[in-house]
Order: sequence, then structure tokens, then C-alpha cells
Amino acid sequence: MDIQALRAFEDNYIWLLRDGHRAVVVDPGDEAPVLQYLAGQDASLAAILLTHHHGDHTGGVAGLLARKQVPVFGPAGESIAGITHPLGEGDTVVLPGSQDRLQVMEVPGHTRGHIAYYGFFKGQGALFCGDTLFGCGCGRLFEGTADQMWTSLAKLAALPGDTLAYCAHEYTQSNVRFALAVEPGNAALLARAAQVAELRAANLPTVPFTLKEELETNPFLRSGQPDVAAAAERHCGTRLPGANAVFAVLREWKNTFR
Ligand code: ZN
Ligand code: FE
Repeated sequence: MDIQALRAFEDNYIWLLRDGHRAVVVDPGDEAPVLQYLAGQDASLAAILLTHHHGDHTGGVAGLLARKQVPVFGPAGESIAGITHPLGEGDTVVLPGSQDRLQVMEVPGHTRGHIAYYGFFKGQGALFCGDTLFGCGCGRLFEGTADQMWTSLAKLAALPGDTLAYCAHEYTQSNVRFALAVEPGNAALLARAAQVAELRAANLPTVPFTLKEELETNPFLRSGQPDVAAAAERHCGTRLPGANAVFAVLREWKNTFR
């Protein structure tokens, strides 16, 4: 199984899992790049995986199903047209026609029913995390609470450090700018900032990234670190009782950060 990025809209990635002639897509917000890929690469769609209901992740489902009926996996906790296999925590997805399996994790926060998919391809751990974890950042809280999102992120961060995370947006560079405001002295973050700037200058993706890299540089995952807590406390001017409170302040701060 090969994993490739298809670009959509301004900054979305549709992840395409390719096994021989079979292709599985994750979060097809637009059918056009998928259809173009399938036609050009002599591949046929075998399944659709969805992480949450937002249009930039689901907008292409109807157009793909109009051309070929395939299983559509998605969160049981959200109503999305076309889902044939509603999924919740602990469910396993067996990709049609292959041995590959993905485990389902419920990660509410960005939306109430958001799920992530975790599996191994050629021995390499892969996480499809939609709009929950981003490179050096995390999704906005549209439906869930800060506590829910913090719990969800902690759950993802507990996966093996060499896991490659495939998120749905190219937001890393602007997230790094915020991360530097929180932790200007973080050496790993400074190194990542340089690497991300180089990739983006060459119009290359910064995704996937490893969870280890996130634990070293992503301020949201680092809400339990003393330096990050101190920065959040300076920002809001009060003592924060724990990592979840620090996370909540960081998420609010980022919303207005320019
Ligand atoms: Zn979203
Ligand atoms: Fe999105």
C-alpha cells in the first residue's frame, strides 16, 4: 500500500492509499482530483474513508459514488450522506480486497463525532487524523470542548513516536509561527521552522510528520510542559491548574494570533 497526497482547494490533502490497481481515499472534499488521479493512473476506487462531516472532507463523496458504488466508512456519531459502514471507538476497518486494516479512534473536539484511523502499511504506522492534529497545531473547537480535544490529542500522542500522521490540511507553517510565540527557545521547534520554511518555499508538503516530532514541537501537545504552561499563564494573566487548562488557553490564544 502506497500513500500519496492529492491536493484539493487551497490547502486540503486527500490521502490516497494505493494497492495495485485499487485505491482508497481519505476525506475526499472534492471528487475532481480523485477522478483525475484514477483516470491518469489506471486505478479504480475501492473505498472511501471519512473522518468528520465538514464539506471540505466530504464534498466529493456523492460525485465519486455516482461513478462507482464503493463502501463508505465514516463516524457513527455524525450524519453524513453515503456512509455504508458507521464506525466508533475500537472498530476495525478491513480495506476491501486487501489484508490491510485500520483501527478506529474516536477523537471528538473539532467536531462531536470526529474519528481517526490508525494502521500499519509495510510495517510503518500511519495515522489519518483529519482536522484533529495538524503539523505543529490542532483543529479548532467547532463542536467539542477544550477538555475533549485535549483528551483526543493525548490519545493520538500516546501512539508510537515513529507513527506518521497524515492530517487533512497544510497548516504547518502558520502553526509554527504561533508555536514560536509560545516557545521561542525550543531548539527542536527552531529546527522545524527552518525545515518547514524550506519545504514550503519549494511548494512541497510538510505532511506527513512523526508523532515524536509533534511531541517535541507542537505547543498543544506540550500543554503539560512547564515552559508552555508559563507562556499560557503570561498570556491570560492567571495561574492555570493543569495541562487541560493550559491547552484551553493556547487554543483561544491561537484563534486571535496573527
Ligand atoms: Zn474540519
Ligand atoms: Fe478541514
